[in-house]
Amino acid sequence: MDPRASYGAKSFLEQIELTTSPTLTAAKEALKHYFGYSDFRPMQGEIIESVLSGRDTVVLMPTGGGKSMCFQLPALVMRGTALVVSPLISLMKDQVEALRQNGIKAAYLNSSQDGLEQRQVEDDLANGSLKLLYVSPERLLSGDTIRVLQRARINLIAIDEAHCISAWGHDFRPEYTKLSLVRDSLGDMPMVALTATADKTTRRDIVQQLDLQDPNLFVSSFDRPNLNLEVRPGRDRIKQIVDWAKRRPDQSGIVYCLSRKSTEMLSQKLKSKGINAEAYHAGLHERVRSSVQERFVRDELPVVCATIAFGMGIDKSNVRWVIHYNLPKNLEGFYQEIGRAGRDGGAAETLLFYSWNDRKILAEIIADNNPKTADLQISKLDRMYQYATTVHCRRRLLLTYFGDDYRENCGHCDICRNPPKPFDGTRLAQMALSGVARTDQRIGQPTLVSILRGTQNPEIAVMGYADIKTFGAGREVSLRDWHFYIEQLIHQGLLEVAPDKRNALHLTPAAEEVLFGERSVELVKREVKEEIKAASTKPALTRHKLSGQNQELFQRLRKLRLSMARSMGKPPYVIFNDTTLEEMSILQPTDSGSMKLISGVGDHKLRQYGDPFMKEIRDFIYEG
Ligand code: ADP
Ligand code: ZN
Repeated sequence: MDPRASYGAKSFLEQIELTTSPTLTAAKEALKHYFGYSDFRPMQGEIIESVLSGRDTVVLMPTGGGKSMCFQLPALVMRGTALVVSPLISLMKDQVEALRQNGIKAAYLNSSQDGLEQRQVEDDLANGSLKLLYVSPERLLSGDTIRVLQRARINLIAIDEAHCISAWGHDFRPEYTKLSLVRDSLGDMPMVALTATADKTTRRDIVQQLDLQDPNLFVSSFDRPNLNLEVRPGRDRIKQIVDWAKRRPDQSGIVYCLSRKSTEMLSQKLKSKGINAEAYHAGLHERVRSSVQERFVRDELPVVCATIAFGMGIDKSNVRWVIHYNLPKNLEGFYQEIGRAGRDGGAAETLLFYSWNDRKILAEIIADNNPKTADLQISKLDRMYQYATTVHCRRRLLLTYFGDDYRENCGHCDICRNPPKPFDGTRLAQMALSGVARTDQRIGQPTLVSILRGTQNPEIAVMGYADIKTFGAGREVSLRDWHFYIEQLIHQGLLEVAPDKRNALHLTPAAEEVLFGERSVELVKREVKEEIKAASTKPALTRHKLSGQNQELFQRLRKLRLSMARSMGKPPYVIFNDTTLEEMSILQPTDSGSMKLISGVGDHKLRQYGDPFMKEIRDFIYEG
């Protein structure tokens, strides 16, 4: 059946533009026709309705939640062109490419184009054939871009990554603050601001600075149930990462590191263990960086060790895992980074390593770099540290932070799968607290642990701490456990860390009650072995469990996709993403009618790529 048949002689666009005002129903038809999806994700429908009604709209949705659709679908069903302001050239290119693959007329304007290309875009814009135009804020505000736009019919302005407008946020871009002027010069049209950063200050800044008029605000749930959450204390990190990557040979993954140097060190180490990994950071030559990025996106390089400079501009849907080598600065950044995993909706894993020392180094960096906002940033860092050390459901902590009303335990984070075991820790607590008292509250956590375990370090030698009564009293408890217990004492308000005294531990009044035997302390244990075992098995939440046969077909379809992508010079996922291929390997469609039912197969892609995939499936069935 010709997929165009249902729209008669007229194209889909002509058909829907005939209706007097664009409707949600038309948007839903466009979702199926262009993108091959049957249903809106949560909130998408309401948001699209708001934009179509002409209201200014603010959208807060987690990374991978499906924000782009909220302006792309209105753009498709309205007359004229939507203007999309996006901060990164690479991201723009990817989005435009993905739209074109779905048969949508989209283009971008940026400094990487030559005069001829720009002229072409301007012509398309003037004759009204473009549905979406992407532009960077710098470009928008420079030269005669505004004049060019004034000659076109712009129907809405979408501001992507809108948190860049806020000096309080973590990616401030000064040009963003001038964007309200753009609407003034382009006339009356709705503005939609989108971000994955939810805190209230940023939200208020967005509304004020863009001068949004009585905006509709949509805060979608920040839950990404397909992301598995796991945290481990940061010991033997490299060995653990090597094991991890070896167990996941065909998967794409990112390891985020704090410094450029550590990305290089780690990628070297991984390579020496036979893992195909590269480093990525802003200090590398542009050519090296884009080659790493491209190979990663094209599934040719499975592992990238990167600073957080990596990823913001990458639209790769099948990243299967994200590891943080160090504690990140705040939960916003962390959630954005892990959000890069599993954007295709398939199960994905996240692993965070942390230590008290990570927190300490970050606090110093913050205090040095931003003395003015240091208090705010340090309190954000503390919430991050709390996520790492909590003994309760991690998803609940995360989602509560982002303002979700999430009261259950998620059942599939590491804590829920392997709940900590409480025990009477009064004696251990007394030991640790007396160690602090006998050293006049001058020592930090590492030295306290050394004293308890009776091991020497220079500070202990110089200060003569080996002579105090507590020295070696807690020898039978492992180093790792002592750190874990002391962190719990901090969380329970028995110890305080004094950042102005080189992170010395101080006793609180409650600690004195414990020392005098007036108060008992409950601590929790966690079994390391079990934890690693749990993590190395399949993630708890797999969308489709592919059986042997389906798995075989899936691998064949992946191969086909890779070779097609190579000959086109494009990343594989622009053809179909992993979830689409999974669905194909289960339902095994061999004709256009059933192929069209697969999520992610729109009319354009069916025409473009349907045949080779159906042939591969038929071959597979006959051979079997
Ligand atoms: P965000 O911009 O919020 O990070 P995207 O807009 O890139 O997320 O969407 C993430 C993924 O979800 C994309 O692969 C997109 O095609 C897919 N997606 C979006 N909306 C839907 C939908 N209604 N049904 C199925 N998949 C969707
Ligand atoms: Zn949980």
